[in-house]
Amino acid sequence: MNSSYRSPWMTDELDMLRTTARRFFEDEVAPRAEKFRRQHHIDRDVWEKAGDLGLLCMSIPEQYGGQGASFAHEVVVMEEQARICDTTFGFIPGALNGPAFFHGTASHEQLQRWMPGIASGRQVLCVCITEPDAGTDVKAMRTTARREGDEYVLNGNKIFITLGQQADLALVAARTGGAGSGAKGISLFMIETAKTPGFKVNKVLDKIGQNALNTAEIFLEDARVPAENLIGGVEGKGFFQLMDVFTRERLSIGIVGIACAERAIELTVEHAKNRKMLGQTLWDFQNTRFTLVECLTDARVGRVFIDQIVKDIVDGKPLQPNDAMMAKWWGSEKQCQIIDRCLQLFGGYGYVCEYPIAQLYMDARVARIYGGSNETLKDVIARGM
Ligand SMILES: Cc1cc2nc3c(=O)[nH]c(=O)nc-3n(C[C@H](O)[C@H](O)[C@H](O)COP(=O)(O)OP(=O)(O)OC[C@H]3O[C@@H](n4cnc5c(N)ncnc54)[C@H](O)[C@@H]3O)c2cc1C
Repeated sequence: MNSSYRSPWMTDELDMLRTTARRFFEDEVAPRAEKFRRQHHIDRDVWEKAGDLGLLCMSIPEQYGGQGASFAHEVVVMEEQARICDTTFGFIPGALNGPAFFHGTASHEQLQRWMPGIASGRQVLCVCITEPDAGTDVKAMRTTARREGDEYVLNGNKIFITLGQQADLALVAARTGGAGSGAKGISLFMIETAKTPGFKVNKVLDKIGQNALNTAEIFLEDARVPAENLIGGVEGKGFFQLMDVFTRERLSIGIVGIACAERAIELTVEHAKNRKMLGQTLWDFQNTRFTLVECLTDARVGRVFIDQIVKDIVDGKPLQPNDAMMAKWWGSEKQCQIIDRCLQLFGGYGYVCEYPIAQLYMDARVARIYGGSNETLKDVIARGM
């Protein structure tokens, strides 16, 4: 698509990263995307290749195996993943937010122990917070962690855990306080899944989109972890530690939403100009052009809003939770609306899974639900008005 717009935070160095990331997604992920979707997970060598190229954990400090780069570096990688119309690789949950959750909550010793494996792609991390009766209402969590000598014993049930089936490491939220302890009774633990027989993957859920990412139900049945696996070393801080990191996750969802919408528009313009019907092209109908200009304008408004937030972060300003929540709800709504309007212009082909626009459509829907549902976020934003 012919556009002279360039994000104000882009640099020559980030252009080079974009080239590397684009090549990685085009060579390593896109050709196997269908296979990954069928098997509900990506092959290990893809994680490892990404780690070798330095594409994982870009903003994690170098002392822990990351790149010590800026958030803008991560944005470039997210945008390039959106470009191939596939969330197969799962950068958002698997390579970006999981490590960010861990980095934001763990002690120096814990980061030294586990982060290099995650950053190199040799260890896959999942984050286990949600439970069947505690989704939006995280404070209703029932999973318990009971101290027994030098260990904690975890019991409970986690659901919707991205990468749960593949994970070598699981960052698990559990209640160390009593039943009525609310937010103050929640702590985080690292479980090394292979060494913990009580960590059980009950089933991989069959979803309507994002199928190459396994989303699992996990049972914790007397799962024993050494006491030093208590994240941050202090009980009762888990909920507050998590809330801080959620902010960055929400912004990321908004960023991916706008990037996917932009890609949908590009694909649709190309399709409309080539698709012949009734003695002209689809593009020649005024409705097509009006629709796509409206979509482009919506996407640009989103892009400018997100660019401002990213620029502020790059300039060292703290990310405001409300900004991240607005970016998330608005970006994901626009993602769904724009992709739906674009799909309509593909006619029946838009309904066929092998077309990238269909993948964008199926993968988009969850963005309005996870990371805090859009309704929940509006409710939180309204409290400050
Ligand atoms: C594909 C996928 C991947 C996920 N990955 C993970 C993961 O890796 N780790 C993890 O821990 N969790 C994960 N989740 C869970 C996700 O965060 C939850 O699904 C989400 O928080 C919503 O919780 P819930 O599904 O229990 O819905 P519920 O909490 O039951 O919400 C149902 C409805 O109630 C509405 N609602 C809630 N509060 C309000 C309000 N104040 N006002 C109006 N309406 C409201 C919601 O908007 C929603 O429409 C994932 C979910 C999915 C689908």
